[in-house]
Amino acid sequence: MAIRSIETLYEQVRNAAPAAAPYETATVEAVAPGIRVLALRTPTLPPAAHTNVYLVGPEIGPVAVVDPGSPYPDQQAVLDQFLAQVPIDLVLLTHHHGDHIGGAAALAARWGVPIAAHAATARRLEGIVEVTSLLGDGDRVHGLTAVHTPGHAEGHLCFEQDGFTIAGDMVAGIGTILIDPSEGDMALYLASLELLLARPAATLLPAHGPPIVDGPAKLREYLAHRRMREARVVAALGETPALLDELLPAAYGDTPRMMWPLAERSLRAHLDKLVNEGRARFDGAARWSR
Ligand SMILES: [Zn+2]
Repeated sequence: MAIRSIETLYEQVRNAAPAAAPYETATVEAVAPGIRVLALRTPTLPPAAHTNVYLVGPEIGPVAVVDPGSPYPDQQAVLDQFLAQVPIDLVLLTHHHGDHIGGAAALAARWGVPIAAHAATARRLEGIVEVTSLLGDGDRVHGLTAVHTPGHAEGHLCFEQDGFTIAGDMVAGIGTILIDPSEGDMALYLASLELLLARPAATLLPAHGPPIVDGPAKLREYLAHRRMREARVVAALGETPALLDELLPAAYGDTPRMMWPLAERSLRAHLDKLVNEGRARFDGAARWSR
């Protein structure tokens, strides 16, 4: 099977999804001391239909704008209206996916500000968004500490400040996080969940959905869920090599059919991890066995 981009997968699920709820005008809300949020409509993964733009800085600015992901002019106008009163001095990106960067280049050009992200994100965005400054694990920027959390995307960063973590696509307040093996890595993702869990307890501010007040509980829930799934994948494997299509019903029978194109990618990510760990066998073509 050809590798499809995560954007194509999101689109496929959107096309099969029921119509989104009527759109309400976005408003800026405070979610933490010095952090405001503006949820803008984006081409993302249902049931989410918005990406949270976090605005970090004092009330009168300047603010850093995290993940201006909307490519839609009416949504960009809402953000611009806010920025006409509160100056912006930086764009920050958690990772390279379209629903996080869709408005970044236009925003940075309009306001003449730099764009900062991880080097792996900058590489993925070559020719799409010009990242002007590179951030690594532990770097301080605009009062935030960058934490490298690869897995969902190689260059994924979270941004911490005083008990709050801007979590990008590490967790979701609505919907699920996809680990797509063409650009994600299940083992790294699990390690990044553990890494966040080992840090001081924080409220997680996800890119999709409301704040997650008990961050550690959510991280433990995610880890337990992925381990449960991995156990099902292991149980689905037999002596006879089987195709992804054949393993899917046993491993993801509890997942709505609409989500199966994504589940198949996630299944592949689990299998890649199991093969690397010597717990599954791949025939090199299309079939897996124990
Ligand atoms: Zn993403």
